[in-house]
Amino acid sequence: MMTMTCQECVEKLQPFLDRELSGSERLEVERHLSICGHCADSFHFEAGILRVVGRCGRATYASEELKARIRVVVQTAIIEKE
Ligand SMILES: [Zn+2]
Repeated sequence: MMTMTCQECVEKLQPFLDRELSGSERLEVERHLSICGHCADSFHFEAGILRVVGRCGRATYASEELKARIRVVVQTAIIEKE
């Protein structure tokens, strides 16, 4: 069964969480998350950040910057793993 790579999945996590993906793209991401524990961890991490950000609506700028930094670290770790 063809599925997206881990890198593609990580790149789509943010639009996935922001509900910016089309239906078929969402399905692809969900399918990858269901078979890849590593990306599932990244997804729960991203979702957790969003929950925290949602709770404290202040400091949005700092949160976005932090999220961007964390995303780079996660993507780098995945690329190095492959
Ligand atoms: Zn993966």
